[in-house]
Amino acid sequence: AGSNDALMARRNAAVPRGVASAMPFFAAKAENAELWDVEGNRYIDFAGGIAVLNTGHRHAKVVEAAKAQEDLYTHTSFQVVPYEPYVALAEKLNALAPGEFEKKSLLVTTGAEAVENAVKIARAHTGRPGIIAFSGGYHGRTLMTLGLTGKVTPYKKDVGPFPTDIFRAPFPDARQGVTVEDALKALETLMLTDADPSRIAAIILEPVLGEGGYVPVPAEMWQALRAICDKHGILLISDEIQAGFGRTGTWFAIEHSGVAPDLITVAKSMAGGYPIAGVIGRADVMDAPMPGGLGGTYGGNPVACAAALAAIEALDSEGLLERSTRMGEHFRARFAEIGARTAPYRMWDIRGLGAMLAVEFVTDFETATPDAALTKSVIAHAQKRGLILLACGMHGNALRIMVPLTASDAIVEAGLEIFEAALADAVA
Ligand code: PMP
Repeated sequence: AGSNDALMARRNAAVPRGVASAMPFFAAKAENAELWDVEGNRYIDFAGGIAVLNTGHRHAKVVEAAKAQEDLYTHTSFQVVPYEPYVALAEKLNALAPGEFEKKSLLVTTGAEAVENAVKIARAHTGRPGIIAFSGGYHGRTLMTLGLTGKVTPYKKDVGPFPTDIFRAPFPDARQGVTVEDALKALETLMLTDADPSRIAAIILEPVLGEGGYVPVPAEMWQALRAICDKHGILLISDEIQAGFGRTGTWFAIEHSGVAPDLITVAKSMAGGYPIAGVIGRADVMDAPMPGGLGGTYGGNPVACAAALAAIEALDSEGLLERSTRMGEHFRARFAEIGARTAPYRMWDIRGLGAMLAVEFVTDFETATPDAALTKSVIAHAQKRGLILLACGMHGNALRIMVPLTASDAIVEAGLEIFEAALADAVA
């Protein structure tokens, strides 16, 4: 295959720069929370392929289920010849999702496609065009989802215009000076100035901002949004693509608030490394689009369905939801120690829900100026020492933890030790 440098030269010549890679090496193989590059270097993986690997790289049950399905058939298109794994996965999702009402699920291939379809379904059901989304939210790279995404650089740069009837409300982030009260007041104002509630189909938000910095939505915010939606006949959508499937210690992150949304978008860790996504929702809402109005050639691919059923089974039978909660507590404690010891007054915040955690770096606590350069440097030093880390946040100054929930305590600890050494390198 060649060296990392030779492959990088080929990559740069053959692949557009727009699809950026965070790491300067090429994958050769991976197992659970470890990955080896083409030169035999070993890395601990705290990125999990962007929150896809809650069950780790190549979980034995997931690989086995996918292989078994490959021996039967790999594609028929559900719209031509239906197959049982699609139905079984829909049944499973309907059973897992919060809300004491009848549910149905649509399967697609990517997270962006799930969000696109949630918007279509919400519009078809309500007969209304408008969607309200939040600052810092990330919903995908297709044009509708980019319109919903609340961050310009790099996602929205130079590729507009975006669809109309998208409205933006401030995300409640007390650390950034926006309380739940402030956010609700702004939403109320938005509904008076621009977003006529009788023309709004849905409000969409992530239960924990993902790309936007791993900031959880306070429970009071969800409860208030539920009441606003009920008052105006608006649908509430929880985008659980990054926060779902055990990352936060529950199947869906919104469960922490006790609120049931009308629609949920899912992807990523749902299938342990296979491309599949979905929309789960109230049966009457999901049935709004006419026959033929939903779908796509590859939607709910049978191999990915088999992998998803196995990944969900593994999350359940291996106690990984509980492990997420414990892992989160452990990371919080260790980050606090490491911050105080190695970079005093630079680690501004340790936040998240369960094992969906981030640390945020600033130049100093006095001004709390976001320090993207320090964050980048920590990532580069960690990479040299054998740890894969990924940034997030509106200012690119947060590091997020997406380590497999199946990672052993020893691997987690080894990763944290590299993190501390990389932080020491970066502040030196
Ligand atoms: N919504 C959220 C919350 C996400 O984190 C992502 C992916 N990072 C998406 C939507 C889009 O998913 P995909 O990249 O599979 O299109």
